Amino acid sequence: MIPESSQTSLALRARIETFMEEHIYPNEARFYRESEDLGPWKVQPVVEELKAKARAAGLWNLFLPESDRGAGLSNLEYAPLCEVMGRSHLAPEVFNCSAPDTGNMEVLERYGSDADKKRWLEPLLNGEIRSAFAMTEPAVASSDARNIESAITRDGDEYVINGHKWYTTGATDPRCKIIIFMGKSDPDAEPYRQQSMILVPKDTPGVTVRRALPVFGFYGVPDRASEVLFENVRVPASNMLLGEGRGFEIAQGRLGPGRIHHCMRLIGLAERTLEKMVARADDRVAFGKLLSDQSVTRERIAESRIMIEQARLLTLRAAHMMDTVGNKEAKAEIAMIKVAVPQMACKVIDWAIQLFGGGGTGNDFGLAAAYATARLLRLADGPDEVHRDQIARLEYKRQRNRNESAGAPNGAPALSDTALGVAAN
Ligand SMILES: Cc1cc2nc3c(=O)[nH]c(=O)nc-3n(C[C@H](O)[C@H](O)[C@H](O)COP(=O)(O)OP(=O)(O)OC[C@H]3O[C@@H](n4cnc5c(N)ncnc54)[C@H](O)[C@@H]3O)c2cc1C
Repeated sequence: MIPESSQTSLALRARIETFMEEHIYPNEARFYRESEDLGPWKVQPVVEELKAKARAAGLWNLFLPESDRGAGLSNLEYAPLCEVMGRSHLAPEVFNCSAPDTGNMEVLERYGSDADKKRWLEPLLNGEIRSAFAMTEPAVASSDARNIESAITRDGDEYVINGHKWYTTGATDPRCKIIIFMGKSDPDAEPYRQQSMILVPKDTPGVTVRRALPVFGFYGVPDRASEVLFENVRVPASNMLLGEGRGFEIAQGRLGPGRIHHCMRLIGLAERTLEKMVARADDRVAFGKLLSDQSVTRERIAESRIMIEQARLLTLRAAHMMDTVGNKEAKAEIAMIKVAVPQMACKVIDWAIQLFGGGGTGNDFGLAAAYATARLLRLADGPDEVHRDQIARLEYKRQRNRNESAGAPNGAPALSDTALGVAAN
């Protein structure tokens, strides 16, 4: 059972919705215009203006579960708020709740020293600077992070860093001042102890942001993807997070609460897209009939509603499990929503594009950027296949353990009982 939303969450949600009506939706056209005119290397003035307003309204850093620095909300309480923010590309950053800063702030909060917190976490929490996370490399299949080849080599009281990264979100942003870098500190250790994470100030000599990368032809929105070179970059040894060889441990922590925010936001984006579909279908006539009266439209509207509700319930269940039994126990549910939600959003947005006709392929209705967002998340949060692989492994393990404890050999008839049990849940 998933409990009802708390009063705190409901009240915050109402305040965010009001803010969205008053400040976010009316400024979206300006946001897209500024993004296009200024490009991925500049800051859109509208973002900074609205950040000040959101902060003054107390709608700030709501993602952080620690109550002294954030709002102290559980995942289940945060999910509906994140969903509302996800309705617009402009909103998450305005509330200081956008990726990759949220995940990076969680890392700094949990694994940073007091000095790191003062230098990097505080300005991030204040929305004064931004950050990046540099793991993926063009040369290797980075969905398997054991392949990461960049080197982090100790030299006296410094580390020397060399590596070539890409799809590093946010590096072209002039406000981006700190990069969490993942690389190999000990190539001879066992595979899960080879990688470390270290803090690299972006202005350190040897760091070059080489170019902005397009995401389906977009630059900057929905993602400031970037290619970054690290050539003999020297940082103090104290910049190492948690300790050498503990990169995977941090990755687990980094992908804790932050890992489901994308899903929550995509549900909001799909919900808004469905609203747009209904309004458009009620407003256009083709072959003597409103589009809303065409049976294919009704079918797609109904399917969209079903798929959104399913995705939301699964996401809330994952959030509730993370709160109650922990991220480790919830890993199957987390992997499931990472597959299910972007697929659902891609489908709903694709139907919307079709319904809008030619205009659906542009951004007058926000649909092209919405599609790019949903589609990129089938990769950026780890490819679907990797999540499915994990779900299958967990499923085999669960059912085989169950069969073994029931005395049945692997793959014996007890399996079908279990399958029935799962379907009934
Ligand atoms: C817009 C965007 C933003 C991103 N932001 C960041 C960021 O900020 N920082 C960062 O470090 N990275 C970021 N990434 C990179 C992202 O995390 C990687 O693209 C992703 O992990 C996949 O790695 P890869 O691109 O090397 O693909 P590969 O590892 O080469 O995988 C390619 C394909 O191989 C298949 N495959 C892989 N493993 C399996 C498997 N087990 N079973 C079956 N098939 C499999 C899948 O189809 C997969 O898509 C971003 C990516 C995008 C598109």
